[in-house]
Amino acid sequence: MNVPTLDALRGLSPKQQPNYDDPAQLEEVLAQLRSRPPLVFAGECDALKSKIADASVGRAFILQGGDCAETFDSLTASSIRGRLRVLLSMAIVLTYAAEVPVVKIGRMAGQFAKPRSAESETRDGLSLPAYRGDAVNGFEFTAQSRRHDPLRLLQVYNASAATLNLVRAFTKGGFADLRSMHSWNADFVRSAKVSTRYESLTSEINRALAFMIACGVDDESFRTVDFYASHEALLIDYEHSLTRIDSRTSTPYNVGGHLLWIGDRTREVGGAHVELLKSLRNPVGLKIGPRAQVDQILPVLEELDPHHEPGRVTIISRMGSKKVRDLLPPIVEKVEATGRKVAWVCDPMHGNTFSSATGYKTRSFADVADEVNGFFDVHANLGTWPGGIHIELTGDDVTECVGGASELGEQDLAHRYETLCDPRLNRTQSLELAFLVADRLSGIERPASDFVSMDF
Ligand code: PEP
Ligand code: MN
Repeated sequence: MNVPTLDALRGLSPKQQPNYDDPAQLEEVLAQLRSRPPLVFAGECDALKSKIADASVGRAFILQGGDCAETFDSLTASSIRGRLRVLLSMAIVLTYAAEVPVVKIGRMAGQFAKPRSAESETRDGLSLPAYRGDAVNGFEFTAQSRRHDPLRLLQVYNASAATLNLVRAFTKGGFADLRSMHSWNADFVRSAKVSTRYESLTSEINRALAFMIACGVDDESFRTVDFYASHEALLIDYEHSLTRIDSRTSTPYNVGGHLLWIGDRTREVGGAHVELLKSLRNPVGLKIGPRAQVDQILPVLEELDPHHEPGRVTIISRMGSKKVRDLLPPIVEKVEATGRKVAWVCDPMHGNTFSSATGYKTRSFADVADEVNGFFDVHANLGTWPGGIHIELTGDDVTECVGGASELGEQDLAHRYETLCDPRLNRTQSLELAFLVADRLSGIERPASDFVSMDF
């Protein structure tokens, strides 16, 4: 399939795009981006697709997580390491419980643009363009900062490259060695309940590893981790400029991230986002919220995946804790009835946002946990496999979501509220959620043949 031209995509009036006041400057930026080297390789995207195919049939579980919006300011080694450490710790908890491989995907190295419900923001009578992520404009509430600036797209590329470079070094260069799990945990969690459980799990794994090594098994997979980058494909100009034809297969891939997803606000058939992503060979995600009708979703799936290719589509549902048990089952049933296998992933964040009495946009850990439980209940009832979770989290000890083992209250939010966009789980809350998911996964009965076997 041919990639549509940028002009053709622009002709579809894509939603949620910047308004640049200097089109010539934009074209210059895009020309530069088109000549930049790829950030990811087609073969890696294919490898991820085959892992997602496993998660579609109960042979793997997806853990996708990271910031709501990455920022240029958070481009530091400690911020990247912190997020990676939380994700890898969660992955260990899940792998141990699920006894299937965990597919690790960051909302990282490209997650810089945000869809917004309102075009503008008003403060004290002054209205300015809404903050749309560092890819588009600045967070500071001044006319200059909120101007849509095409040069920021080059910064997105550079920040993504730097992030991915460090992630690759961490995951392949020793940091992710299973035997150093204990050291990741130094000063890691703030709740005795969560840290005791984590410590005992890592001790158990260390003993098992020591045993295997004593038996002569010392596998590369103990030392390195496959980690993938994903982001919302929102800015048509940017995503189009990072599309390349793979020389091996002569097919088009987006080389700015392994997996790209289409947001809940931009997923209409015939729209620019679907038209662009359907032409690419990367695995794609589709976010669906409480307003999604199944007769809208089936045609989008048909567009994105006409050949029912294993691993091609991940459906990320974000229904809200009160609605997931009612809204998700008919969708799962109707999609499964088409014979198509998708990975079902739960985003328990975006349907559970509210404003605290103190004026902070927040989420309650209890609601997040409840949506995850609802998602597992739905799949248990239908006999389908809950394929993964999609979480907004950070490696820092922020106070953005209330509840959890350390019982953060609304009065605590002011203490360390750092997100520029949606509230994220902190590291303790993230690990606590991993234990909850682990308990649900270990409760699922599967035929013995589905378990990974280890031969000596
Ligand atoms: C997001 O993932 O940050 C987001 C905006 O999600 P959604 O498209 O589900 O609203
Ligand atoms: Mn978000």
